[in-house]
Amino acid sequence: MASRERLEAAIAAASEWLAERYDIAEFKARDRREPGRREKMRAERALMRDVARLFRRMAAAIRQRLEAYPRPAAKAETPDPMGDEWWDEQEAALRAILLRHMGRGASGGGRIFQAAVGVSIDPAAFNKQASKWVQSEYTKLSKTISDGVSDELRKQLQEFITTPGTTVGDVMERLGLETSHAEMIAITEITRAYAEGQRIAGEELQKDYPDLTVREYWFTNNDEIVCEICRPLNGTSVLLQENFTVQDKDGNTIAEIPRPPAHPRCRCWSQTELDV
Ligand SMILES: [Zn+2]
Repeated sequence: MASRERLEAAIAAASEWLAERYDIAEFKARDRREPGRREKMRAERALMRDVARLFRRMAAAIRQRLEAYPRPAAKAETPDPMGDEWWDEQEAALRAILLRHMGRGASGGGRIFQAAVGVSIDPAAFNKQASKWVQSEYTKLSKTISDGVSDELRKQLQEFITTPGTTVGDVMERLGLETSHAEMIAITEITRAYAEGQRIAGEELQKDYPDLTVREYWFTNNDEIVCEICRPLNGTSVLLQENFTVQDKDGNTIAEIPRPPAHPRCRCWSQTELDV
């Protein structure tokens, strides 16, 4: 009897574990040829888990506030129901998550670079540049994301007030706090942090050995091979300081980008080698 109970408890715990991670199981595997593939997949999952958890907490707080929100009869000014301080806290929480995970991602990129070129770079110099990049990139991104949710909430609140029949659920659906958004952030930013980590390592190497040139190759994830933007870039290369050129179907240049990601959810990767 006791062992049966233990078994049931174990099954319950396992299903809870699965349910919690259900969204994460949706992740596609990264390409088998990709260096650091498993490490990047783990990093994607960990980042998504933390961002999704924050988004869920934010959504719960907003929902609770909206449910108590007095719906005026006429169109009026729509005050922010959460207040500046609350938004600042959310932005800071998101920034802390991003800085932590992306610092690791950039370091991972640095390790991949060193393994690829077979040369060690000064870890202190690398860390200094990497942390500068991470700070600036992810301070910006956390603000963009938090401002995006806040602007959308204000817009949806107008709808909520002026359109009879609009529910709190309708408002919540459009805020961008769903797990798929957390997943998108995780995939795109892990791609970016690893690619930029390699770039930073390459630049550090070139500072120490000015006559070395580093070449960067673009590789497209197998299941992304249908992506119009990335497919033509697969296997092409440029020098570290140069940009890849994105062309449309007619061969017109539509963008120049230094390295992956080319778009949200891009799971391309760059590989570096010494140009001799
Ligand atoms: Zn791509």
